[in-house]
Amino acid sequence: MRLRVAGIIEESVVDGPGLRLVVFVQGCPHRCPGCHNPHTWDPAGGTLMEVEEILAMVKRNPLLKGVTLSGGEPFAQAGALAVLARQVRALGRDVITYTGYTWEKLLELAGRDGAVKELVELSDYIVDGPFIQEKRDPELPFRGSSNQRVIDVPASLACGRVVIAPWGGQ
Ligand code: SF4
Repeated sequence: MRLRVAGIIEESVVDGPGLRLVVFVQGCPHRCPGCHNPHTWDPAGGTLMEVEEILAMVKRNPLLKGVTLSGGEPFAQAGALAVLARQVRALGRDVITYTGYTWEKLLELAGRDGAVKELVELSDYIVDGPFIQEKRDPELPFRGSSNQRVIDVPASLACGRVVIAPWGGQ
């Protein structure tokens, strides 16, 4: 299965806790004013990569705590990313997914799109919501604006309300 990517960083310490491989997917419908990655907006841009190629990078690096899916909009390619996320978790690594959708909107989308539902459920954490320039705060860990939340996905799904991860800085 193939994924359209804008780029990959094989080792990052700024995209979630621990050492992480970061996949920046290509294509974003949100077009937030002030976005730092406008080159990721075009859904026909970037390059196509096999999910297996990315998985091989993860397997090569025993120091990785996990994989971060960023963008672009990961949920625009939920099917391929769910395949990747499932295999990453099978390796004992965690998955953090960034999205321009709010948690509430994602759950609504998940109700009618099985791939979105799967990627939500395969994410350990989701950082939700669009980047809002007026709410930009460079002091916030792992997110750009104060409307964005670092959501503990299993805990939130289990109790039916948003549970913020302790490392999310709220
Ligand atoms: S969701 Fe992210 S990548 Fe998309 S426009 Fe907003 S800040 Fe940029």
